[in-house]
This record gives sequence, C-alpha cells and structure tokens, in this order.
Amino acid sequence: MSGEARTPVAVLGLGLMGSAIARAFLAAGHPTVVWNRTGAKADALVELDATRAASAAAAIENAPLAVVSLLDDDAVGAALREAGPRLRGRVLVNLTSSTPEQSRRRAEWAGRHGAEYVDGAVMAVPQGLGTPDALLLYSGSESGYRTAEPVLRALTEQGTYLGADHGRAAAFDAALVSVFWLSLFGVSLGIALAEAEGVKGSELVRFTPAVVGLLPDMAAHTAAQVEAGHYPGHDTSISSAYTAFATLREVVARHGIDTGVLDATGEVFRRALAAGHGADGLARLVPTLAGSR
Ligand code: NDP
Repeated sequence: MSGEARTPVAVLGLGLMGSAIARAFLAAGHPTVVWNRTGAKADALVELDATRAASAAAAIENAPLAVVSLLDDDAVGAALREAGPRLRGRVLVNLTSSTPEQSRRRAEWAGRHGAEYVDGAVMAVPQGLGTPDALLLYSGSESGYRTAEPVLRALTEQGTYLGADHGRAAAFDAALVSVFWLSLFGVSLGIALAEAEGVKGSELVRFTPAVVGLLPDMAAHTAAQVEAGHYPGHDTSISSAYTAFATLREVVARHGIDTGVLDATGEVFRRALAAGHGADGLARLVPTLAGSR
C-alpha cells in the first residue's frame, strides 16, 4: 500500500451513507476518525478500528481530509458551525445532497475558513460503494480534488471531476436524480396497472429491461436534438406519442389508479401540440418543459 493510500480521513455523519463511506475507507486501510451527532452510530465503526471523535471540530483536527455525509445542507451548517476555525489548510469534501446554490455558498464559507472545498454527488446506494458500479461526481477546488482523489478512490474507481464550479456536481446530481426518480415512478405506476389487470408485477418485470434498455439511446438522441435546436420526428412524433399516451391514461383512470403524474405529463404534451409542434420528435418536449413555446 502506498503512503498516499494511508492518508487519514475524517468522516462527519454516520447515517446509512456516511457509515458505508467510513467502512470503505477503513477497508482500504485509511486511518479513519468518525463523528456523528448521535454518538452510538459510531460504535460499529469503532469495532472496525475507526477512531471516535467527540465533536465535528475534533474529527477535522485529526485529519487533513474531511468527508461529510449529512442529511442536507442545514445539517451540514449545524454540524460544522463550531468547526470552521479548524478547517484552515484542510480539504473538505461534502457528499451531502445539496442544491447547486447551497454548494456554492458552502464553498464560499469553507474558503473563508481557509479550506479547499470539493462538492460531491453520490450516484449510488450505500451498499454500492467500493464496487465498480458506484458513480461519484465531484466539482470545485481542483487541487483539493487531486489531493483527496487517492483516498476517494476507496469509494469507487468511477470518480469523475466535473470542473471548478462548486455547484456543478449538484447540478448533475439534480438532473440525474430526476431521470432516476421519474423512471422509478413509471415502474411503480406500471406495476400498479399490471396488478389491476391481474398481471403480477413479477411477470411484468421480466420485460422491463427491454423497455428500459431503450432509454440510453433515446437520452443521447434527445440531448443531441436539444443542442442542435432542431427536432425532426423521424421515429416518433409528439402527436402520435400523445395518442398512445392518452390510451395509457384511459386504462389507468379506468382502474381508479392515481393519474396525477400522467396528467402533469399530458399537460406538457398539450402545450407542445397547441404551439404547433405535433410533427416534431419527443425531444421538442424539452424546451416546452423549460417554458418556451
Ligand atoms: P440518514 O438519514 O441515514 O443519515 C442522516 C445523517 O445526517 C445522520 O448522520 C444524522 O445524524 C445527520 N443529521 C441530520 N440532521 C442533523 C443535524 N441537524 N445536525 C447534525 N447531524 C444531522 O441519510 P443517508 O446517510 O442515507 O444520506 C446522507 C446523504 O447522502 C443525504 O444527503 C442523501 O441525500 C445522500 N445520499 C444517500 C443515498 C442513499 O441511498 N442513502 C444515495 C445517494 C445520496 P443522527 O444520526 O444524529 O440523526
């Protein structure tokens, strides 16, 4: 193991994600000092050789690198309030889900205290950390990221630095979470509909990979059309897709299943149609969603 790989690291926040982060650092051999508001959550990590800190400030004082995973930005503010003066010369990597604006404000705050600030987004579940599938996105101080990178590699080899704007990782996070959650909502609605039709969810999901597998190509195609500002409906037009969509809504409504998500989507379709985009491809819904006619 290289000297770099043994860099001490402090982990602030030992919820589901923070505990998994600390375990990954310990597994990679990093001396790990841990702190959590509810101290008992450190017990299992102390058994794995983590060092318990009495406060966030004490944890930061004991390592050149601090990784934060708390519920939200308010929790980060509460946890770090007393710790600011200890941050000088340290690298602070904040993996707490935040808005881009919160990340930029947190970077200013950390900068005032003399820390190099890196904001990160975890696109993985806690059990996924340390596996090749985990994706982590970072932005902010590049030199801070380069310093932290050998340690952060314990979380995933798939760490990607996105640039100096501290809010950029959070922007990617929000956009990717939108893709994930709305897709997952589609799964929930699909299973509710299948069950109402007497089809077991387990029978249905045999076929979901074929449908979900279409998404990466469609996403790339949509992004390309948006960037070109040109929306030829070669494969599917908004008007034909809306007809299929209306059929889906009818089936859902007939079973008394909540149509709220579909109704919001239908409204976007209707705005695009009313603006004369019926012959365009589905990518034209992007500017419609963003408010253009
Ligand atoms: P948990 O609810 O399991 O843990 C929340 C953590 O925040 C706990 O350590 C909790 O401390 C702490 N906390 C909450 N409020 C305060 C406060 N006011 N002051 C100090 N500490 C506080 O959440 P997760 O670990 O799941 O999530 C952590 C972050 O990771 C979130 O931003 C989440 O969005 C993100 N994330 C989580 C994923 C997941 O699958 N779990 C996936 C991707 C990102 P205490 O124990 O004392 O309550």
